[in-house]
Amino acid sequence: MEKTVLIMGGAGYIGSHTVKHLQEQGYSCVVADNLVYGHRQAVPEGVPFEKADLADVASLEPIFSKYDFSAVLHFAAYAYVGESVTDPQKYYQNNVAGTLNLLSVMKKHHVNKIVFSSTCATYGEPKYTPMDEKHPQNPINPYGRSKLMIEQVFADYARAYGLKYAALRYFNAAGAAQDASIGESHNPETHLIPLVLQAIKGERSCIKIFGTDYPTPDGTCLRDYIHVEDLACAHRLALEKLNDFSGYVNLGTGIKTSVKDIIAAAEKVTGKTCPVQPAPRRAGDPAELYAAAHGPAETVLGWKPRYLQIEDIIATAWKWEQNRRY
Ligand code: UDP
Repeated sequence: MEKTVLIMGGAGYIGSHTVKHLQEQGYSCVVADNLVYGHRQAVPEGVPFEKADLADVASLEPIFSKYDFSAVLHFAAYAYVGESVTDPQKYYQNNVAGTLNLLSVMKKHHVNKIVFSSTCATYGEPKYTPMDEKHPQNPINPYGRSKLMIEQVFADYARAYGLKYAALRYFNAAGAAQDASIGESHNPETHLIPLVLQAIKGERSCIKIFGTDYPTPDGTCLRDYIHVEDLACAHRLALEKLNDFSGYVNLGTGIKTSVKDIIAAAEKVTGKTCPVQPAPRRAGDPAELYAAAHGPAETVLGWKPRYLQIEDIIATAWKWEQNRRY
């Protein structure tokens, strides 16, 4: 049987863009997703889809028996920071216990390679910027802690069982497929760029700017926005390097963009005005978060982000926003 990769959570935002990229690169893919937050329409035609839940080992088993997987790309996680504070059990159960279930089925079926969605939220409050992989990890919410726990599990499983892993710590994922066939669709939506575009479309009354008194040039938070297709490409490169490399890799551009920069860029791209309202700071938002450029993503994976202009990233999100299918 042909060797195939399993994309767990492949109907979600970053997972679906990675499936599309892998398919275009000639990989044989299988998507598994519980469709709680994922979208069946986000999975490309011709890619086998299996409904499965990490909480239920019995739903994973038959998938591993049916296909001969060479590796797993694992995107299946809950990712609402605020909800992780009010309902930590949901996060530890799904993100931590669920991943342990996945690893146990992988071990049983002798699949020993995994590429994992981690996050810059594992670092917590920045001690310095730009942030490299050696930055201390002290997450400030259960979401970040759930991801850090799994990173630590990987290191132990690597030593004991020979697991090969890449934990990719994303900064702010943004944008949509160049052809607008898939894109970002969260319910509820909490991310800045889709909210700004929806405000511009008149679907929301305004965008609240969470904090205008930060110690940054324009008083609003600085973030590192990385295009989702660049993230997808990094997953493939990590997958292809797993025979020689296991470890942790930041994925960002190293470019800092403020909330006001995003709004200005969205107005430029769309030619329309975005209604804004200054609002208090959001709990847990550091003033600035951005990756150190030229780190292991470049030196080990051979990756370079292609989208360096925020207008180009927003243009793909805008095209998707105007043609969204889900
Ligand atoms: N933000 C904002 N208004 C919103 C949503 C987000 O001002 O309605 C700000 C938020 O404070 C942060 C940046 O936009 O500085 C990016 O937030 P997002 O939730 O998109 O990603 P995060 O950085 O939290 O992962």
